[in-house]
Amino acid sequence: LTALSAAAALALTACGDDSGDSQGASGPVKGKVGVILPDTTSSTRYESFDRPYLEQAFKAAGVRYDIQNAEGSTQRFQTIADQMITSGATVLVVDGLDSNSAAAVQRKAQSQGVKTIDYDRLTLGGVADYYVSFDNVKVGEELGKGLRACLGDKPANVAYLNGAPTDNNATLFAQGAHSVLDKVTGYRKVAEQAVPDWKPEKAATIFEQMWTEQKGRIDGVLAANDNLGNAAVSIIKKNGEAGKVAVTGQDATLQGLQNILDGTQCMTVYKPVKQEAEAAAKLAVALLKGEKGQTNGTTRDPQGKRDVPSVLLTPIGVNKQNVKQVVGDGFVKASDLCKGA
Ligand code: BGC
Repeated sequence: LTALSAAAALALTACGDDSGDSQGASGPVKGKVGVILPDTTSSTRYESFDRPYLEQAFKAAGVRYDIQNAEGSTQRFQTIADQMITSGATVLVVDGLDSNSAAAVQRKAQSQGVKTIDYDRLTLGGVADYYVSFDNVKVGEELGKGLRACLGDKPANVAYLNGAPTDNNATLFAQGAHSVLDKVTGYRKVAEQAVPDWKPEKAATIFEQMWTEQKGRIDGVLAANDNLGNAAVSIIKKNGEAGKVAVTGQDATLQGLQNILDGTQCMTVYKPVKQEAEAAAKLAVALLKGEKGQTNGTTRDPQGKRDVPSVLLTPIGVNKQNVKQVVGDGFVKASDLCKGA
């Protein structure tokens, strides 16, 4: 992106009315909520689900808001935050690209009296007032349980494609998955690697190398999300073994669900993002009004050595048997899902 087109894109994506105050239940509310999403390539969730559900929730609450996407750039992330604060944001909801850059954004916001909420990813060493996410260790456990259900308890070689090393969630996913799979006698970990920035093309390169090194003797792939899983599936297909290797995923993306239906992927983890968006919006609105929000637990930030008040939601493992549940929830349309099948 050139500086000019970046600036134009920033201006284009701004939404909500920047003039005046919005009307809250208890009178006019000053300021607005700014939300910064991380990218558009590591998962389809951000633009397909997080954004529209957040919009819906802010509209329902009658507050002003501005949702933007940093498109994978930490520099752009900071620029968006600065611009939001200049234009009146008093609460920032942050889904960071990495903890260091997100913590810098939060500290700068704090120095200007702006409150922050960690959305989906915990910013290690950050200063967020709240954290909203799914129970991410549980997500990892669902991945492990799902893979085990597909592999059975016979001996199996398992390769791990973990998420970005800079994403605290990826650490928790791997932790949860290992807590299940390491207990199964007969399973052998043959490879494990983190995929920088959750980039699917990097995942494909990494997995192709694993496949070559193992001479194709891989029975299961613990892939941390649908994009990484699909990258593994593409390499497995290329080697003529489609459907013979159990591959996991996460996010219940259209591609992931289609892979499950055609048998190339074993499972995904469905996280009802609507609940997450609504919980974040609720906390943001409370902060906007100078009120305290409601939480259901705390999350330890080992780097900041503090417990962050949290709303943690429950993820759902999805395979061929219960894929209807995701459709029933309105997350995907049956017509879209069955197009590729
Ligand atoms: C999110 C996942 C997502 C991944 C890549 C994680 O932090 O929890 O839902 O697939 O990032 O964007």
